Amino acid sequence: MESIKTLIIGSGPAGYTAAIYAARADLKPVLYTGLEPGGQLTTTTEVDNFPGYPEGVDGPKMMVELQQQAERFGTEVRIGFIHKVEFATEVGGIHKAYVEGGPEIEAQTIIISTGATAKYLGLPSEQRLRGGGVSACAVCDGFFYKGQEVAIVGGGDTAAEEATYLANICSKVTMLVRRDEMRASKAMQHRVTQTANIDLRYNSEIEEVLGENVVEGIRIKNNKTGVVEEIPITGLFIAIGHQPNTELFKGQLDMDEAGYLITKGKSTKTNLPGVFASGDVQDKEYRQAVTAAGTGCMAALDAERYLQSLN
Ligand code: NAP
Repeated sequence: MESIKTLIIGSGPAGYTAAIYAARADLKPVLYTGLEPGGQLTTTTEVDNFPGYPEGVDGPKMMVELQQQAERFGTEVRIGFIHKVEFATEVGGIHKAYVEGGPEIEAQTIIISTGATAKYLGLPSEQRLRGGGVSACAVCDGFFYKGQEVAIVGGGDTAAEEATYLANICSKVTMLVRRDEMRASKAMQHRVTQTANIDLRYNSEIEEVLGENVVEGIRIKNNKTGVVEEIPITGLFIAIGHQPNTELFKGQLDMDEAGYLITKGKSTKTNLPGVFASGDVQDKEYRQAVTAAGTGCMAALDAERYLQSLN
């Protein structure tokens, strides 16, 4: 067993930023990376919208640098997966975390930055072409398809927002909605239907993503009429929702109906004292690296203040 002040779970921009701040505040944080060290950014290529990188930066490179920055101030970064937690419910209580095949950790504060995972359709051709034209983030990758024809799958607010975002950059956006109506708010639907270069297709599902190493097109099927069609595109965006990585905390922490952790007001405080949440695990709205980093900073400051309040 090991006793520490601050345990950080997760290694995306939120986790590493929390680590930088916690380490500089002498909380001697220990960070567990989880199964996908570096988080979602390691699955993208170039990150062009993180402030401070005028030429852009490779997602994986940025995560290595964030790790180095966290380590520079004394964060202990460990590759490992926490499979069970037992949170204390009283102020000043000690939280317990169990590392798979490793030690049991007792922590005065825990910062949860376990992120969210984009959902994919699950087609083999889609999985093969991830990073070769298939993306789950239009804001991250849309720019690479400037002036080109792309498609987006989904009928929720994210798909509607991303379709209009892409329509500003790309020459044409084919939007595929699987039912005969969209789930998105009426206002968002209005924006989609008012955008001239969005070709909205209802009752449409992808059968296959075409192309060997890069996306060259999609074969879609109308699930009402059975009509099959091939559409040439260079980029395919999947916007069918995210799954927050909160399975571990069910029954202990307050979550919304989709499983996102609920934080109090303008803070990162969860319903339990000494337990804080930052990044995509508590944000279904913005989901950007820079906003995740911002809440990571907040979580470390909240943890520091909490520890001070115990003295
Ligand atoms: P969502 O609301 O769950 O919508 C997911 C969409 O993807 C639905 O249209 C769904 O179709 C479709 N879908 C799911 N699985 C599919 C599959 N296998 N094949 C094809 N289509 C599939 O997710 P979201 O759009 O990411 O939004 C998540 C939450 O964030 C929502 O509460 C949303 O309101 C909120 N949000 C708000 C804003 C904003 O207000 N600016 C922006 C983004 C997100 P069905 O409808 O048929 O299930």
